[in-house]
Amino acid sequence: MDLKRTVVDLMPGPLVRVFAAPYIAGKGISSGVAKADDLHARLGLYSTVDLLAEEVFSREDVEATVQVYLRMIEALKDRPYASISLKPTSLGINESEAYCQDNLRRIVEAAAAHGLHITLDMEDHHFTDVTLRMFKAIRNDFDNFGIVLQSRLFRTGDDIKNLHTKRCKVRICIGIYNEPPDVSLQEKDKMKDKLFHQVQQLLDHGHYPEIATHDEPLVRRCMAYLDQQGVARDAYEFQMLLGVPRNELQQEVVKRGQIMRLYVPFAEDWKYAVHYLKRRLAHSPSMALMVMKNMFGS
Ligand SMILES: Cc1cc2nc3c(=O)[nH]c(=O)nc-3n(C[C@H](O)[C@H](O)[C@H](O)COP(=O)(O)OP(=O)(O)OC[C@H]3O[C@@H](n4cnc5c(N)ncnc54)[C@H](O)[C@@H]3O)c2cc1C
Repeated sequence: MDLKRTVVDLMPGPLVRVFAAPYIAGKGISSGVAKADDLHARLGLYSTVDLLAEEVFSREDVEATVQVYLRMIEALKDRPYASISLKPTSLGINESEAYCQDNLRRIVEAAAAHGLHITLDMEDHHFTDVTLRMFKAIRNDFDNFGIVLQSRLFRTGDDIKNLHTKRCKVRICIGIYNEPPDVSLQEKDKMKDKLFHQVQQLLDHGHYPEIATHDEPLVRRCMAYLDQQGVARDAYEFQMLLGVPRNELQQEVVKRGQIMRLYVPFAEDWKYAVHYLKRRLAHSPSMALMVMKNMFGS
């Protein structure tokens, strides 16, 4: 059993919120909008705003989540520097594919009317097939819809080949979920090497890669290679999570005239936020240590 994961799993919700504070904009849609405005005004950064909600089960709670997303769209319209991210487990996938797809379609359609882009986050490998099916069905009708692929999964090269005939925005990341060895690489170096090659594969298939990593050597490797290949700087972008300290690197991307986008989550109901926050803390105990030092001055 992974000790750090067990410690984080046993943490009570209120403590998780303290440790995870650097990763989240705050409570309510207005906190997400204010953070997106501030990041753009001060630092020239773009945002993808996300409601912290996963493992939402009842129809009532799923509908409440859809309504939050519809209000977010109203709140974020007219901001070309903002987009929205969402997860199938917050939108009814636990009930059925048809129900979830219908909810997704309502959100993507409303966002299309305001020129806002929606990204469908990717969850653990049990959801990969259904997430891709829903994505493709809706992408046939709406251009403002993108997806996430995870370079650690063996299947991702084929998923890129079979993605879509239209040009898609594709966030390519190593993937935050620990996956078993029969479906996934186990060594981070190999995942990052795959990610590098899959950026090129996405471009070759006519897509727009959103390179989501905090690994500075990997970011530099992508920049150097893509410049050397003469790839236009508006043919791809970089993405990172709010709260991970990469200010200098982010500003370097901005100065190259490229989009540097941060993932900006906010909470409406803390009980649905805790899964996400625990995953982040288990991934990065260094962040928890930093918060402890700030709190106790040690
Ligand atoms: C915008 C965005 C959206 C994402 N969406 C998804 C998704 O839909 N599905 C999915 O499975 N995964 C998603 N991820 C997570 C991603 O897959 C990786 O797990 C995560 O970004 C860490 O991998 P890395 O490439 O940064 O490499 P790592 O080797 O994990 O990190 C490199 C370095 O960055 C720092 N770092 C990385 N993460 C953190 C952190 N949380 N806190 C503090 N420091 C950190 C550490 O110093 C670390 O040494 C997303 C990531 C980003 C940036």
